[in-house]
Amino acid sequence: MNLDEIRSLIRTVPDFPSPGIQFRDITTLISHGAGLAATVRHLADRAATAEATLIAGMEARGFIFGAAVAAQMGLGFVPVRKPGKLPVPTLGIDYALEYGRDRLEIDPGAIPPGARVVVIDDLIATGGTALAATDLLRQAGATITHALFVIDLPDLHGADRLRGAGVTVEALIRFAGH
Ligand code: AMP
Repeated sequence: MNLDEIRSLIRTVPDFPSPGIQFRDITTLISHGAGLAATVRHLADRAATAEATLIAGMEARGFIFGAAVAAQMGLGFVPVRKPGKLPVPTLGIDYALEYGRDRLEIDPGAIPPGARVVVIDDLIATGGTALAATDLLRQAGATITHALFVIDLPDLHGADRLRGAGVTVEALIRFAGH
Protein backbone atom coordinates (compact mmCIF):
# COMPACT_ATOMS: atom_id res chain seq x y z
CA MET A 1 0.00 0.00 0.00
CA ASN A 2 1.43 3.39 -0.98
CA LEU A 3 1.44 6.61 1.04
CA ASP A 4 -1.57 8.08 -0.82
CA GLU A 5 -3.61 5.00 0.07
CA ILE A 6 -2.49 5.26 3.71
CA ARG A 7 -3.44 8.96 3.68
CA SER A 8 -6.94 8.10 2.45
CA LEU A 9 -7.46 5.89 5.54
CA ILE A 10 -6.95 8.80 7.98
CA ARG A 11 -10.21 10.42 9.08
CA THR A 12 -10.41 14.19 9.56
CA VAL A 13 -12.78 15.35 12.29
CA PRO A 14 -13.38 19.12 12.23
CA ASP A 15 -13.52 21.16 15.46
CA PHE A 16 -12.18 18.41 17.76
CA PRO A 17 -11.15 18.77 20.58
CA SER A 18 -11.81 22.50 20.15
CA PRO A 19 -13.16 24.84 17.44
CA GLY A 20 -10.77 25.37 14.52
CA ILE A 21 -8.77 22.15 15.05
CA GLN A 22 -8.86 19.56 12.26
CA PHE A 23 -8.30 16.35 14.21
CA ARG A 24 -6.39 13.81 12.11
CA ASP A 25 -7.80 10.56 13.46
CA ILE A 26 -5.72 7.40 12.98
CA THR A 27 -8.49 5.14 14.41
CA THR A 28 -9.67 4.44 10.86
CA LEU A 29 -6.11 3.70 9.70
CA ILE A 30 -5.23 1.22 12.46
CA SER A 31 -8.52 -0.66 12.14
CA HIS A 32 -7.55 -1.46 8.53
CA GLY A 33 -5.21 -4.47 8.57
CA ALA A 34 -3.36 -3.74 5.34
CA GLY A 35 -3.22 -0.04 6.19
CA LEU A 36 -1.70 -0.65 9.61
CA ALA A 37 0.83 -3.16 8.24
CA ALA A 38 1.90 -0.82 5.43
CA THR A 39 2.26 2.15 7.80
CA VAL A 40 4.45 0.08 10.14
CA ARG A 41 6.55 -1.15 7.19
CA HIS A 42 7.14 2.38 5.87
CA LEU A 43 8.17 3.56 9.36
CA ALA A 44 10.41 0.52 9.94
CA ASP A 45 12.20 1.12 6.60
CA ARG A 46 13.07 4.63 7.78
CA ALA A 47 14.08 3.49 11.28
CA ALA A 48 16.45 0.95 9.68
CA THR A 49 18.36 3.72 7.88
CA ALA A 50 18.78 5.44 11.26
CA GLU A 51 20.50 2.30 12.60
CA ALA A 52 18.25 2.26 15.65
CA THR A 53 19.03 -0.04 18.56
CA LEU A 54 15.82 0.87 20.42
CA ILE A 55 12.48 2.50 19.57
CA ALA A 56 10.68 5.00 21.84
CA GLY A 57 7.05 6.10 21.47
CA MET A 58 4.93 8.69 23.23
CA GLU A 59 1.74 7.85 25.13
CA ALA A 60 -0.70 7.01 23.78
CA ARG A 61 -0.80 6.80 19.98
CA GLY A 62 2.99 6.63 19.73
CA PHE A 63 2.76 3.30 21.58
CA ILE A 64 0.71 1.77 18.76
CA PHE A 65 3.12 2.59 15.94
CA GLY A 66 6.33 2.54 17.98
CA ALA A 67 5.79 -0.89 19.51
CA ALA A 68 4.73 -2.36 16.16
CA VAL A 69 7.84 -0.96 14.45
CA ALA A 70 10.06 -2.25 17.27
CA ALA A 71 8.57 -5.75 17.03
CA GLN A 72 8.95 -5.78 13.24
CA MET A 73 12.63 -4.82 13.59
CA GLY A 74 13.34 -7.16 16.50
CA LEU A 75 14.16 -4.19 18.76
CA GLY A 76 13.00 -3.23 22.24
CA PHE A 77 10.42 -0.48 22.87
CA VAL A 78 10.60 2.29 25.48
CA PRO A 79 7.27 3.89 26.45
CA VAL A 80 7.50 7.65 27.09
CA ARG A 81 4.70 7.95 29.61
CA LYS A 82 2.35 10.53 31.03
CA PRO A 83 3.12 11.34 34.68
CA GLY A 84 2.44 8.92 37.51
CA LYS A 85 2.11 5.77 35.39
CA LEU A 86 5.46 4.04 35.90
CA PRO A 87 5.91 1.96 39.08
CA VAL A 88 9.63 2.80 39.50
CA PRO A 89 11.59 6.03 40.14
CA THR A 90 11.42 7.97 36.88
CA LEU A 91 13.31 10.59 34.92
CA GLY A 92 10.85 13.31 33.92
CA ILE A 93 10.57 16.53 31.96
CA ASP A 94 8.01 19.34 32.19
CA TYR A 95 7.15 21.18 29.00
CA ALA A 96 4.86 23.96 27.85
CA LEU A 97 1.67 23.33 25.89
CA GLU A 98 -0.27 25.98 23.97
CA TYR A 99 -2.41 26.31 27.12
CA GLY A 100 -0.74 25.07 30.29
CA ARG A 101 1.98 22.53 30.95
CA ASP A 102 2.47 18.78 30.71
CA ARG A 103 5.06 16.20 31.76
CA LEU A 104 6.63 13.07 30.29
CA GLU A 105 8.41 10.33 32.24
CA ILE A 106 10.60 7.33 31.43
CA ASP A 107 12.22 4.49 33.32
CA PRO A 108 15.91 5.46 33.07
CA GLY A 109 16.84 1.79 33.44
CA ALA A 110 15.25 1.11 30.03
CA ILE A 111 18.06 2.97 28.20
CA PRO A 112 21.25 0.88 28.00
CA PRO A 113 24.61 2.62 27.49
CA GLY A 114 25.22 3.47 23.83
CA ALA A 115 21.52 3.24 22.84
CA ARG A 116 20.57 4.82 19.49
CA VAL A 117 16.89 5.57 19.97
CA VAL A 118 14.43 6.47 17.20
CA VAL A 119 11.41 8.43 18.47
CA ILE A 120 8.03 7.57 16.94
CA ASP A 121 4.63 9.27 17.30
CA ASP A 122 1.46 9.41 15.24
CA LEU A 123 1.63 13.14 14.54
CA ILE A 124 3.87 16.18 14.96
CA ALA A 125 2.13 19.53 15.33
CA THR A 126 4.04 22.23 17.30
CA GLY A 127 6.77 19.72 18.11
CA GLY A 128 6.56 20.37 21.86
CA THR A 129 5.89 16.73 22.73
CA ALA A 130 8.62 15.33 20.47
CA LEU A 131 11.18 17.92 21.65
CA ALA A 132 10.45 17.08 25.29
CA ALA A 133 10.73 13.34 24.60
CA THR A 134 14.03 13.88 22.77
CA ASP A 135 15.44 15.99 25.64
CA LEU A 136 14.35 13.39 28.18
CA LEU A 137 15.84 10.43 26.31
CA ARG A 138 19.08 12.36 25.80
CA GLN A 139 19.21 13.10 29.55
CA ALA A 140 19.00 9.34 30.08
CA GLY A 141 22.08 8.89 27.87
CA ALA A 142 20.46 7.96 24.55
CA THR A 143 21.64 9.21 21.17
CA ILE A 144 18.68 10.56 19.18
CA THR A 145 19.32 11.25 15.51
CA HIS A 146 15.91 10.47 13.99
CA ALA A 147 12.23 11.00 14.80
CA LEU A 148 9.48 9.47 12.68
CA PHE A 149 5.82 10.41 12.41
CA VAL A 150 2.90 9.11 10.43
CA ILE A 151 1.60 12.68 9.99
CA ASP A 152 3.26 16.12 9.92
CA LEU A 153 1.33 19.39 10.12
CA PRO A 154 4.06 21.52 8.49
CA ASP A 155 2.19 24.82 8.99
CA LEU A 156 2.84 24.44 12.74
CA HIS A 157 6.64 24.13 12.19
CA GLY A 158 7.18 21.38 14.78
CA ALA A 159 9.42 19.40 12.44
CA ASP A 160 11.58 22.52 11.90
CA ARG A 161 11.92 22.97 15.68
CA LEU A 162 12.97 19.36 16.10
CA ARG A 163 15.49 19.67 13.23
CA GLY A 164 16.90 22.65 15.15
CA ALA A 165 17.66 20.22 17.99
CA GLY A 166 19.79 18.12 15.63
CA VAL A 167 17.16 15.50 14.80
CA THR A 168 16.40 14.20 11.29
CA VAL A 169 12.61 14.31 11.00
CA GLU A 170 10.59 12.21 8.58
CA ALA A 171 6.82 11.90 8.19
CA LEU A 172 4.87 9.65 5.85
CA ILE A 173 2.04 12.12 5.25
CA ARG A 174 1.51 15.89 5.45
CA PHE A 175 -1.71 17.84 5.98
CA ALA A 176 -1.96 21.61 5.51
CA GLY A 177 -3.44 23.72 8.30
CA HIS A 178 -3.93 23.07 12.00
P1 AMP B 1 2.65 18.75 19.47
O1 AMP B 1 3.31 18.56 20.80
O2 AMP B 1 2.01 20.11 19.32
O3 AMP B 1 3.57 18.43 18.30
O4 AMP B 1 1.42 17.76 19.40
C1 AMP B 1 1.62 16.42 19.13
C2 AMP B 1 0.68 15.52 19.87
O5 AMP B 1 -0.66 16.01 19.92
C3 AMP B 1 0.66 14.21 19.14
O6 AMP B 1 0.91 13.18 20.10
C4 AMP B 1 -0.71 14.11 18.51
O7 AMP B 1 -1.26 12.86 18.80
C5 AMP B 1 -1.54 15.24 19.11
N1 AMP B 1 -2.13 16.17 18.11
C6 AMP B 1 -1.83 17.49 17.95
N2 AMP B 1 -2.54 18.06 16.97
C7 AMP B 1 -3.33 17.08 16.45
C8 AMP B 1 -4.28 17.03 15.37
N3 AMP B 1 -4.60 18.10 14.61
N4 AMP B 1 -4.88 15.84 15.11
C9 AMP B 1 -4.57 14.74 15.86
N5 AMP B 1 -3.70 14.72 16.88
C10 AMP B 1 -3.07 15.87 17.19
